[in-house]
Amino acid sequence: MIRLLHNKLVAGEITAVDLAKQYLKTIKEKDGEFGAYLTVLEKQALEEAVIVDERLKRGETIDLLAGIPGAIKDNILMEGIRATSASKILDNYIAPYDATVIAKLKAVHTVMLGKTNMDEFALGSSTENSAYQVTKNPYDLTRVPGGTSGGSAAAVAGSEAVWALGSDTGGSIRQPAAFCGVVGLKPTYGRVSRYGLMAGASSLDQIGPIAQTVEDVAIVFSRIAGYDPHDATSADSGHGKKYEDYLGGDVRGKKIGIPKEYFSSDLDPKIRVLCDQALEYFKSLGIEVREISLPHSSFALPAYYIIQPCEVSSNFARYDGIRYGLSINDEKSSVEEKSTLLETYLDTRRHGFGPEVKRRIMLGTYSLSSGYYDAYYLKAQKVRALLKQDFEKAFEEVDFIFSPTTPEPAFKIGEKTTDPLKMYLGDIYTITANLTGVPALSFPIGTVSEDGKELPIGGQLQGRWFDEETLLCVADAFEKEYERCHSV
Ligand code: GLN
Repeated sequence: MIRLLHNKLVAGEITAVDLAKQYLKTIKEKDGEFGAYLTVLEKQALEEAVIVDERLKRGETIDLLAGIPGAIKDNILMEGIRATSASKILDNYIAPYDATVIAKLKAVHTVMLGKTNMDEFALGSSTENSAYQVTKNPYDLTRVPGGTSGGSAAAVAGSEAVWALGSDTGGSIRQPAAFCGVVGLKPTYGRVSRYGLMAGASSLDQIGPIAQTVEDVAIVFSRIAGYDPHDATSADSGHGKKYEDYLGGDVRGKKIGIPKEYFSSDLDPKIRVLCDQALEYFKSLGIEVREISLPHSSFALPAYYIIQPCEVSSNFARYDGIRYGLSINDEKSSVEEKSTLLETYLDTRRHGFGPEVKRRIMLGTYSLSSGYYDAYYLKAQKVRALLKQDFEKAFEEVDFIFSPTTPEPAFKIGEKTTDPLKMYLGDIYTITANLTGVPALSFPIGTVSEDGKELPIGGQLQGRWFDEETLLCVADAFEKEYERCHSV
């Protein structure tokens, strides 16, 4: 889709301003229903589009992504723009600088339409934890779009953006992409700079793209990836790689592993059928499919729900009512009413944070406290090392690991809000990529019928560390094979 729009821009069939206006109009018409955006940046978007049109008029070559309208998750900083992370504690927070990914996107003159809704501080799986609004799944408005990048996925699925950025700590790009029938990439840890991404769990967080097709994801990814001296965990490799140039390469002879632990009898039979069908498509592309074992898989979820809250509890100490955002103390007017420092901390955090944030802070603080650290945090880190070993072993035998992205299609709004454990269990297939750091891509593999509606299902491929090009190449071949088989 991006290439098509780019060609039209270059051929003068459309202008960047018209394109931006068309998307802004769709947002105006539909976003009351979808609730994907927290902030719409009409003025900035149009100003950027004017610049692109002027460059075109002067006969300058423009980047593939120039003038193509996209959306940004609200936990990524854009200078001068409100960034709430869907939390009341940052209700009045204006970002003082651009995240590296934003600076890179500005440099290629892409058009950013606005900031998207999410679960508060990227904690959740449905976008219902937003302090502002519920985002709805464009496929069925009674269902969640997934989370935590639910606004980004819904914006793309609902034609309110061509592409979007999300962040993924345990599945937050891939799960909403799966629920909304679009493509989402969690890059290898270290591939995309986290500078200017509000920290959740720093050893797990990655920014990545969501779009309609694998090629579109590759195009956006190329423009945000790369080394950044501002992020100490950023990897010094893959400079200037154009991932879209790898698509269409030879995939014959590649090997996909099917972990027997992921395909137990608990898997929804309707999803299993779609996975089996997907594997047939891979085979018809000349890809070999074989069973593998990831023996420590069952420990991934408990390890994640210790490590993630531990890092969250430590990172979130910064929201103290002093440095940024809400400060309950500020709101008290008279001298007699002024709070002590401790009261400021407690009141600000009590009023500013929602229930899931408080739950994670409590879980993390408990696991890190003296006497419990060894039993929880240390043990979880050991499990993390074992999971990494499982993957290293698997990648000696196969090039990719395939699974569904989620154990079920998009669920009903409100269905899991009172049962956090149920919500956490849905992350079973996505969290391991974050714990091990490998790149993982979710892409549509078909739909299932629920209450007379067709709901999208995502398949997930996990690849070797820093080998996004082969991952995208194989997924792109799959997408074309799927289209070929479904268009006859
Ligand atoms: N659902 C997971 C969690 O709540 C993942 C969130 C994310 O990737 N940001 O932690």
